[in-house]
Amino acid sequence: MESLLEIMGNNPALPGPTVPVLMPVALGQTYDYLVPPGFEIAPGDFVLVPFGPQSRIGIVWDTPQGEQKPLDPKKLKALTTRIDVPPLPIMSLRFAEWVAKYTLAPLGMVARMMMSADSAFDPPKPRFGVRLVDDAPPPSKMTPARTRALQFAADGQIRSKSELAQLAACSTGVIDGLVLAGSLVDVAIPERQFPRPNPTHAQTEFTDDQAHAVSGLISAVDADNFSVTLLDGVTGSGKTEVYFEAVARTLAAGHQALIMLPEIALTSQFLDRFERRFGAKPVEWHSALAAAERGRIWKGVATGDVRCIVGARSALFLPYPQLGLIIVDEEHDQGYKQDDRVHYQGRDMCVVRGNLGKFPVVLASATPSIESHVNALHGRYRHLVLPGRFTGVDMPDVAAIDMKREGPEPGKWLAPRLVSAMTDAYAKGQQSLLFLNRRGYAPLTLCRSCGHRIECPQCTAWLVEHRFKKRLDCHHCGFSLSLPEKCPNCAAPGSLVACGPGIERVAEEVAERFPYARVALLSSDLIPSLIDMRAMIHRIEARDVDIIIGTQIVAKGHNFPDLALVGVVDGDLGLAHGADPRAGERTFQLLHQVTGRAGRAHTVGRGFVQTHLPDHPVMAAIVAGDRQAFLNYEIKTRQKGLLPPYGRLAAVIVSARDKELAERTARDIARRAPPSEKITVLGPAEAPIAIVRGRYRWRLLVRAPRDQDLQSYLRAWESDIPKLKGDIRVTLDIDPYNFF
Ligand code: ADP
Ligand code: ZN
Repeated sequence: MESLLEIMGNNPALPGPTVPVLMPVALGQTYDYLVPPGFEIAPGDFVLVPFGPQSRIGIVWDTPQGEQKPLDPKKLKALTTRIDVPPLPIMSLRFAEWVAKYTLAPLGMVARMMMSADSAFDPPKPRFGVRLVDDAPPPSKMTPARTRALQFAADGQIRSKSELAQLAACSTGVIDGLVLAGSLVDVAIPERQFPRPNPTHAQTEFTDDQAHAVSGLISAVDADNFSVTLLDGVTGSGKTEVYFEAVARTLAAGHQALIMLPEIALTSQFLDRFERRFGAKPVEWHSALAAAERGRIWKGVATGDVRCIVGARSALFLPYPQLGLIIVDEEHDQGYKQDDRVHYQGRDMCVVRGNLGKFPVVLASATPSIESHVNALHGRYRHLVLPGRFTGVDMPDVAAIDMKREGPEPGKWLAPRLVSAMTDAYAKGQQSLLFLNRRGYAPLTLCRSCGHRIECPQCTAWLVEHRFKKRLDCHHCGFSLSLPEKCPNCAAPGSLVACGPGIERVAEEVAERFPYARVALLSSDLIPSLIDMRAMIHRIEARDVDIIIGTQIVAKGHNFPDLALVGVVDGDLGLAHGADPRAGERTFQLLHQVTGRAGRAHTVGRGFVQTHLPDHPVMAAIVAGDRQAFLNYEIKTRQKGLLPPYGRLAAVIVSARDKELAERTARDIARRAPPSEKITVLGPAEAPIAIVRGRYRWRLLVRAPRDQDLQSYLRAWESDIPKLKGDIRVTLDIDPYNFF
């Protein structure tokens, strides 16, 4: 009741007490609602309120947010229901406010991310099942189906009728008959409990280096305060084993723990390892969960039943009442940046959450981001280093193949030196992996007779041929066309040629060169679900595959213990993006990770990178395996250009269906930028992909030194922009990672 009095306004002019309610919509302000007599309402409560013509769920806030107008008692509405779910912890309210302020997103949209489990708010639906009645006499009439059903029910377990019918290969009518006959009885199915991880389930023997890192993390957990530790060690050095000890310590202290992984790295290998260490599977959180399961987990986290979550980016916004540790694995991964609705960098928001909640955050990576590296360098983050692989096997020997001097014959994509190394590996019964970060068969289709290139009608992008599906797809908007037989421009039959390779084309060449090899093709469009992906990884682990061909989904999280050779088909693919300050970093990380897949268990592996730029400093560092050289080069480049983390960036993206309107608005917005000596506004310039989904796009880039308050500058700017008309859309992206 105390908290109730604190938040309730008791203005005598109003017909009763009110509370501020935040709606999960694109608004930054709370609205006051009357609390009907007899209601007990506290901050964080979810309530049903009349909102416009609808009734919607909102969150009771503890202080009014945004601009508040004087209340008109006549317009005041009352909340209708308090929803029977655990309240959002006060810490979540503070976190939402912080994220909204930093990203300049409406608070309501951040709150919406915290409610991203609709079924949690539905009234609980008890489910019914059947169980065998002990000592019941057999039914007078027996049929083979009845016998089978009773045999399966003999274990006394509760099952849904359809489940039992399926087991016994009969209709649910048979099960109903057995209930009528008194052999089975209807019972409510109890809510499944979440398995509890046991911190002392298994013990790991650590090497000296690992033990040092473990004690570093344990002392961070024991300090029970905010800290950030960069856990930096090559792939296979034992980072996961090491941070599991921090998780164990946190769980033992009675706190919840969160392990963040890029979605793609949520592999069954990882879940199995967790189970071996803690004796129970962790609770997973990712986009592929069924709706009911999302709701169950959301509530489990809120009640504290769930002790440890392993999840993708959005797991950060679950309603933890007792969070005591966050691990961000593969902290450098781009997948932590969200680029729709609320634009946020998940890794950075984890650090914010740790700071608010006064607990440690651990960032783990074999190739830390420059941002985290510089923070460690300056002592803002602790730095724990695991110097070598646990197996003691060295990192692979990597060689560059200069495509200008020793490239493949025309129409082929694999250079002779790479092919001969693959032949060698195949003869020895070893696995090889070919990496190309490009889905489909060919990135461009060209007409031989008129020179026409087939483009997406709605984007500035070529259509990518997908030969398995026999289609041309746009990778930006999803536009798709079945593969035409003649040129859409000059109608010449059979004149279309595919230009350049995608992984399907590499697979074609492999099939020609190694007709007896067993090949696995790993690409997100060919393996649509996490489940299929897991099955494929099992095949590879079981040595059922000789040659793996994949896009970046092979680079992350998977252990291929028997892999001896890695070939990067186009090492330059990542270096070409002119405007992107992280292009070099990303190329280094990806190629380092991919080549690092080779030779993990027993033998030193070999890596080959096909490149047209063997002398580029980033390429040279990859080939030499010289991370320090890469870091020195990259840090200098960022310092010189005032790029992150030495400067702060924000992107403003203006788009409209009308070409001129987009440009005019972008120029007008640019003209209204507040003058500043320190903050520079670059542009507007037409975006590199100038049209997406039929919208013309212009970009502005705002650059500020580290110590400048970029958000205040942007807010001042925003307030000077007249209300936008028509279908103009302006997107603000703080700390942009995407420069298209
Ligand atoms: P990273 O996370 O740095 O890639 P992992 O923790 O995955 O490294 O370790 C790589 C492999 O070595 C895993 O199979 C892991 O089980 C094993 N390993 C690492 N450290 C130990 C240890 N101290 N005892 C037993 N196995 C270990
Ligand atoms: Zn398109």
